[in-house]
Amino acid sequence: MKYKVIAPGRVNLIGEHTDYNQGFVLPAAIGLFLELTCESKQGRNITATAEGLGVPEIFSLDTLAPVIRDPLWIDYLKGVCWALEKAGHLLSGADISIHSNLPIGSGLSSSAALELATAKALTAANGLEIPLSELALICQQAENEFVKVRCGIMDQYAVALGRKNHALLLDCRSLDYKYIPLSLGKHCLLIIDSRVERSLGSSVYNRRREECEETVRRLSAISKKEFNSLREVTLDDLKECCAYLPDILYRRGRFVVEENIRVQEAAAALQGEDLLSFGYFMKRSHAGLRDLYEVSCPELDLIVDTVVPVNGVLGARMTGAGFGGCALVLLERDVVAAVTRQIEAAFTAMNWCKPYFYTVEIVQGIRLVEIP
Ligand code: ADP
Ligand code: MG
Repeated sequence: MKYKVIAPGRVNLIGEHTDYNQGFVLPAAIGLFLELTCESKQGRNITATAEGLGVPEIFSLDTLAPVIRDPLWIDYLKGVCWALEKAGHLLSGADISIHSNLPIGSGLSSSAALELATAKALTAANGLEIPLSELALICQQAENEFVKVRCGIMDQYAVALGRKNHALLLDCRSLDYKYIPLSLGKHCLLIIDSRVERSLGSSVYNRRREECEETVRRLSAISKKEFNSLREVTLDDLKECCAYLPDILYRRGRFVVEENIRVQEAAAALQGEDLLSFGYFMKRSHAGLRDLYEVSCPELDLIVDTVVPVNGVLGARMTGAGFGGCALVLLERDVVAAVTRQIEAAFTAMNWCKPYFYTVEIVQGIRLVEIP
């Protein structure tokens, strides 16, 4: 039996840099897909081909070890096999092929799509039934411990558990989640890939994580409360400790605490079909990411500044870790073409290469198809 898995990318509607602070996020699976076909075979060798990435790779399930260099695409597959077997799920060999229209490395989670597609296909091919939430955790472990990329759990949950026309309100501390209907009516979501490579991304991402941990340590010492994460900190806690906290840590902490509140308010707005308020929270989120958390970049700021004054645009923000990648705009369908032209003109005026535009549908998470 052959299996095909269709894995979507995801966009985070709001709740940036909150996942590793044990907070809330609001992602949704989007209609750009990675497709992986898998046929099991005897033995312990996996052969994998990725469209456009040259010759097939072959590896043995018996010699897997976490990477100690920059990761290659095949390491994501190896990592998933390693994490599945570590969790006690024995695999046999397989032939795998991948093709995708999901932009790679743009912050739309092609890595999680690749991991989940691999995990779902291999478990199906080996007759294993593992709940999607567990598969998501196994894939996160693969990315964290094998590929050695420190990511939170949001991407894997969104790719695995997304629901058509719904966002996923995820509590990254308890892993409880709730589906929030996305009734967009005459509006839609436009993703704009700035095409700025996130080369600074991983070092700044790690620094922000450390700054958050340091803020928690200092706040605990100053206030004599035992905080485990910024999730437990209130705005009042921050204000009380403000004078004793280095300004940079105060600003990082304030962004995360405010963003956590915003995610919940934004989810409530969506639930009440109040898109105007949702757009407002998007704009506030961007301002916080730019001014307090300092992870935006001129290209993302230009996109947001260009679109926000346009009639019919309700909100815009950078999405993903920052320093490049994508921006997300909530706007009337009727103004998409005009907004696209304005952004292109603004980029041309700066001599920057033209961004890519995607008007995305909100779709279901990974789907398994059996091919007889
Ligand atoms: P993002 O998840 O935001 O797209 P990442 O840097 O986390 O960006 O992951 C991108 C990596 O995932 C790529 O460098 C590649 O190793 C792997 N990858 C993603 N999609 C594919 C694909 N279609 N084929 C092969 N490898 C892929
Ligand atoms: Mg990724």
